[in-house]
Amino acid sequence: MKYDPVRKNDLVIKNGLVIQEDHIQKTDIGIASGIIQKIGPDLEGDEVIDARDLYVIPGGIDPHVHLEMRAGEITSSDDWESGTIAAAIGGTTTVIDFIEPRKTQSLMDALDERKAMAENHSVIDYSMHMTLIGSGPSQFKGIQNVVNAGITSFKTYTTYGIKLTDEEMISAMTEVNRSGGMVMTHCENDAIIEYLRHQLISEGKVTPQYHPFSRPVDAEGEAVERVIALANTAHVPVYIVHVSTSQGADAIRRARSRGQTVWGETCPQYLLLTEDEYKRPGFEPAKYLCQPPLRSKENNIALWKGLAEDTLQTVGTDHCPFFYNGQKDRGKDLFTKIPGGMPGIESRLCLTFTYGVGKGIIDLIRWVEVISGNPAKIFGLYPRKGCLLPGSDADIVLFNPNKSGVISREMLHENVDYTPYEGFLYQGYPVMTIAAGQVIARNGEFTGKGHKGKFISRKPADLGKFRTHEGK
Ligand SMILES: [Zn+2]
Repeated sequence: MKYDPVRKNDLVIKNGLVIQEDHIQKTDIGIASGIIQKIGPDLEGDEVIDARDLYVIPGGIDPHVHLEMRAGEITSSDDWESGTIAAAIGGTTTVIDFIEPRKTQSLMDALDERKAMAENHSVIDYSMHMTLIGSGPSQFKGIQNVVNAGITSFKTYTTYGIKLTDEEMISAMTEVNRSGGMVMTHCENDAIIEYLRHQLISEGKVTPQYHPFSRPVDAEGEAVERVIALANTAHVPVYIVHVSTSQGADAIRRARSRGQTVWGETCPQYLLLTEDEYKRPGFEPAKYLCQPPLRSKENNIALWKGLAEDTLQTVGTDHCPFFYNGQKDRGKDLFTKIPGGMPGIESRLCLTFTYGVGKGIIDLIRWVEVISGNPAKIFGLYPRKGCLLPGSDADIVLFNPNKSGVISREMLHENVDYTPYEGFLYQGYPVMTIAAGQVIARNGEFTGKGHKGKFISRKPADLGKFRTHEGK
């Protein structure tokens, strides 16, 4: 498949409002061989899609999903097929998942194993981040090979059994930087969490209502500050995943204003849901149990502000679904045994549009940046993805700003028995998803049976492709 401006279009999307990186224009897009060939007026092609009154945007890129993820004896409930079908219907055409090597496994073996799980199952294009676990510097030896294999981002944790000590973090970051990669980190202070968990349990406070008290805002704030300092020491670009607090966002803003290459991600659950969900009766708070936990309304507001002001650059979902009945209930007697995570892969575009653009917090161009353009640039997919330019992959979403309704479990395609967004109003919804020039979803249904996504080899982040801070 090649960019060839003189060949005839297989498909033309006509009359849509095309949202480009720095402007919006009513125009046509010509596609051939799965690639955008032309953008301009009066294009002709074998097949024509009328996009009148619709926004035409680059397909969403979800930089943070956990499909078929092992969690002890269980596995997150969306597999590569069901999860990517739900993503596609919701307007996402690329996902970046994770490779989690076992302690004794080489990074490259883990990469091959994970790729094999996705291959022939994912209906959209995909990549993965490599997780570095704390088992000594020998684990960090294969990093250059991983970068050469097209995986340029490395996930580290400051908590859980796979956490790195500060010393291990610096040596991992140094090695990643030497290999041309970047680090992304789950930031929560492990000692605070361990101390509070033990205290709660010793007082008999074992129901999911107590989960948020075990992971306070300080645990995130401290860890974000520390990880930024460690990254600065190692001179490595760092991406803070699922920022949930104003403390975390403030630390990122300060580092960026000093000129450090730091990016922040937040998620719909931290923008839209609050800790009030943990006051629900009985076991119901388990549906909302995730790490970090949901926070206060004030934090929601601070994160929206962070997105608008470019303190935070992306919205990922951290999609990690577990059935309420049959999986979450493993922790009926002790909240620390509840598998953490919630679904969200399908609702990311409609929620960020409705509550971000619709409420006047971010504009259309910024919306496309945080759901697609910035993930592409940070994770080395740009300009192949994350934009609508001649030569880019024809991953395109038609979005109807006038389609409204109420989110319900029944309308979604995620393989799980609830949605945390049940009853949320939406104003604006994806009505067509095109991947590699093929229509794979239309009006809430998957139509791409037989369509297969590809593993996308990624480059290091292009630090010159950002409007602010970097490159100054
Ligand atoms: Zn995650």
